[in-house]
Amino acid sequence: MLFNSKAVAFLLAAIVGILTTAFLYLVPDVSTLALTVAGLLSFSATYFLVYVVFEFLVFREIGKIYEVLNKLRKKDFSFIEETEDQNTLNPFKRINTEIYKYGVNRHKEIEDLKKMEAFRREFLADVSHELKTPIFAAQGFVHTLLDGAVEDKRVRGKFLKRAAKSLDRLDVLIHDLLTLSQIETGEIKMHFEHFNIVESASEVLDELETKADKKKLKFSFDVEYDRPIFVYADSELIYRVLINLVSNAIKYTDEGSVNLGFDVGDGQVTVAIRDTGPGIPPEHLGRIFERFFRVDKSRSKERGGTGLGLAIVKHIMEAHDSKVSVTSTMGKGSSFSFRLPLGKTIQEEEEEVTDLELAE
Ligand code: ADP
Repeated sequence: MLFNSKAVAFLLAAIVGILTTAFLYLVPDVSTLALTVAGLLSFSATYFLVYVVFEFLVFREIGKIYEVLNKLRKKDFSFIEETEDQNTLNPFKRINTEIYKYGVNRHKEIEDLKKMEAFRREFLADVSHELKTPIFAAQGFVHTLLDGAVEDKRVRGKFLKRAAKSLDRLDVLIHDLLTLSQIETGEIKMHFEHFNIVESASEVLDELETKADKKKLKFSFDVEYDRPIFVYADSELIYRVLINLVSNAIKYTDEGSVNLGFDVGDGQVTVAIRDTGPGIPPEHLGRIFERFFRVDKSRSKERGGTGLGLAIVKHIMEAHDSKVSVTSTMGKGSSFSFRLPLGKTIQEEEEEVTDLELAE
């Protein structure tokens, strides 16, 4: 590099040396030796000073900035501690830290965008695939009927039923997709209220009783709950969560029991849905909440699953600042649970209103 500390120091030292000699030259009675010594001394002192200042304060720091830029270009973030000294007075160090932070943030943004793009592509492919299956099936039945099968009374009824079943599947799938997108875009507004979750759960058990009976499952609360448990949440969305978790438990359990229980403590209630189904392999436990992830694709589809139920549950619980957990033992069963904050009883609410009215 032409513009380095030695060249700058030499240039400035030469200028200062010449100026000093020229100035002394104007003073009368100064010997040539004195002029030479003064010129050389001022040259060396300036050279030394400028060189030290530039080399150690300016060029070294600029060199570090280049180093940081190079590392950023190579996506090497190993130098994070070196640039963490934010309280330094050295402006170069501060610039360096700023460049580093800027680079890291941009890098993170790009990585996030790439992930989102990959996710979007994958989701689009999954949705198309999921929609294609029932549409193709219904299309096949309808065309076979049009091609002549309609004349055969027995076949006609069977094919129409199958086409209707495929279209029903399509309807459920689109309904689930819409719910998911509405929760994500915030279109579904949350209506938090104090309600009795034991009552909601009883309604869920009533609604799904016939399905459980068909499979001869023991289907009930784990113990008798003769007192209400009030929670503060969106009752409709929590009903949806319960329906999804309990119907999954029934869907995947072939014998034994499905039960629902509550555990109250620490201002919260834990709701658990337990089954004696096949269990979920440990390597899949972390993935079952992803959209369209199924442990056994054919089994899920054959049982009417869209692969979106648990993704919906996860989103609803996140909207409640809570999360759904799962534990499972292969061959023994699974347990899905979530927590909600305890709410006020109707009496407490009424008392609060009266207190407010009295205060006014
Ligand atoms: P699906 O519509 O396929 O049931 P979900 O999102 O509700 O989709 O569940 C995802 C996958 O998790 C299911 O395909 C199934 O493999 C597994 N799963 C969910 N609940 C249970 C359960 N109670 N027992 C065993 N496996 C389950």
